[in-house]
Amino acid sequence: MKKDQEISHEKGYERLERRGISRRDFLKLCTLSCIAFSLDLGFASKMAEAAAANLTKKPLIWMQGQGCTGCSESLFSSADPEPEQILLDLLSVRFHPTIMAAAGDQAIGSWEHCLEEGNYLLVLEGSIPTADPRFCTVEGRPFLEQFKKAASKAEAVIAVGSCACYGGIPRAGFTGAVGAQDILNGVKVVNIPSCPVKPDRLVGTLLYYLSKNQLPRLDKHGRPLAYYRWTLHDSCHRRLHYERGEFLRDWNDPKTADWCLYYKGCKGKEVFTNCSSYWWNDGVNYCGYSGSPCAGCSQPEFYEQFSPLFDNPKEVK
Ligand code: SF4
Repeated sequence: MKKDQEISHEKGYERLERRGISRRDFLKLCTLSCIAFSLDLGFASKMAEAAAANLTKKPLIWMQGQGCTGCSESLFSSADPEPEQILLDLLSVRFHPTIMAAAGDQAIGSWEHCLEEGNYLLVLEGSIPTADPRFCTVEGRPFLEQFKKAASKAEAVIAVGSCACYGGIPRAGFTGAVGAQDILNGVKVVNIPSCPVKPDRLVGTLLYYLSKNQLPRLDKHGRPLAYYRWTLHDSCHRRLHYERGEFLRDWNDPKTADWCLYYKGCKGKEVFTNCSSYWWNDGVNYCGYSGSPCAGCSQPEFYEQFSPLFDNPKEVK
């Protein structure tokens, strides 16, 4: 049995290498995931082996509701080792409206076949309209109905991006947009919010699930604690200026360009996210570093309750 597993993960590594992901890169990714999930670093190699051996391919259905496809874009355009390669190699993506080659009946056939088999991972991108079934459909049927059907046979449901988690920007409109957890009674949903989704959080959560066969610990908003335990403010690189009472008030004043963005609308004090401690695009940047105040996209309040985005009416305490 042990011998079979060894052969299986060796084959898995070979497959990853054929797609340009070295064993070293994969181990690095697993190590970062272990750090995020506060796992013993010794588990990194076990995680890599378990995930690589899982290349019998866990089926995955990716449904897109009301959204801009930004979460898929974020995932497919991100840094080394490309998370989309990890996804495509670790999992069998049976349905994804943006990337699948099949269309029409063939695509729907694949979706239905996967539903019949069951035990797949279901990922939702985009919000679910509840005001009128015509706002979003799959195969001519209301999205709400089709998503519930898919969720009923899923092994785990993961909502990616603010829209899928809590309704996001579409919630401010007239479609009655909600997130997955609002319509799935009794089903545990893992929420990975931000606008768009941060790829390492999705890949890390999947690696955790594939290697431990259980969902990670979640906070009260259904987010993996590993990525949403602290506020942006806790490790913001502008924090020293905040403590000194140095606030940027005029965008045109270069002397204050690095100062705290609180009065330009930064919501970082109330926003739980690891953006400021583990930057985007493999550590290249995050909103605050590029000069933009945090809009709070990983919180359920985003965005109408955080509006206006570029102002903070309350005086700093
Ligand atoms: Fe806190 Fe935002 Fe100021 Fe950073 S920019 S110190 S997160 S209030």
